[in-house]
Amino acid sequence: MVNVIFLGPPGSGKGTQASILAQELKIPTISTGEVLRKEVENQSEIGKLAKSYMNSGELVPDEVVVNIIKNRITDSDCQNGFIVDGFPRNINQAIVFDNMLQSIGKKIEVVFNFEVDENILIKRISGRFSCKSCGAVYNRYFKLTAKEGFCDNCQSDQFENRVDDNESTVKSRLRVYHNSNIELVRYYEKNNLLYSIDAVKSVPFVSGRLMEVVKNFPKV
Ligand code: ADP
Ligand code: AMP
Repeated sequence: MVNVIFLGPPGSGKGTQASILAQELKIPTISTGEVLRKEVENQSEIGKLAKSYMNSGELVPDEVVVNIIKNRITDSDCQNGFIVDGFPRNINQAIVFDNMLQSIGKKIEVVFNFEVDENILIKRISGRFSCKSCGAVYNRYFKLTAKEGFCDNCQSDQFENRVDDNESTVKSRLRVYHNSNIELVRYYEKNNLLYSIDAVKSVPFVSGRLMEVVKNFPKV
């Protein structure tokens, strides 16, 4: 069992690696960004509240994301471990999360901190597109589909771009990230949970590094 957190700036490859690691370890990924995008798409109450924050690159209020995590973490498929991608985003979320886990007899075992230079992030974000049908993520500079115009995973020919992957929103997402990340890194460093990942490297190189770390945990 291994409970993992992915920290890192937008575009650092967290979602890409989460889907690989989740498949390898047979554990689910919980991405607060993904959950929120679905809520927006469904025009739910949560979605209506979250939309303006997301479109301007600001954080959605803590109580909204904490509730999302709280409802998901007790699901039976999380019993053998989970990967949390995009949460916590600030120290308050981290503390609330630790208390929540403690109350159900769990804890975080590993925190990966994805590190990528800002100019590379911009290119990764501006090149990102995903399959509308299965959500597989591609990149027009770094990872095209094997057959042009068709998803490798489900063969759909429908793709989409994230509305928040535009220049001005990306700037504020990076600012928001820098404002809170140092404190988060210190918090997990102090608890001896932090592993820095050189996420500039290729997708297989990064997954290899993540696996090297998690394989030291029992039952992985
Ligand atoms: P995040 O979830 O951290 O925002 P993604 O996993 O969506 O990041 O990756 C951002 C973009 O960069 C995607 O288009 C993805 O295909 C691409 N990407 C991810 N990892 C790498 C890598 N190691 N090298 C090059 N491109 C990458
Ligand atoms: P992401 O998919 O992780 O890049 O997140 C996209 C957007 O969703 C962010 O810019 C925030 O507006 C919102 N979001 C995702 N996770 C959180 C979180 N843990 N706390 C607050 N807002 C979040």
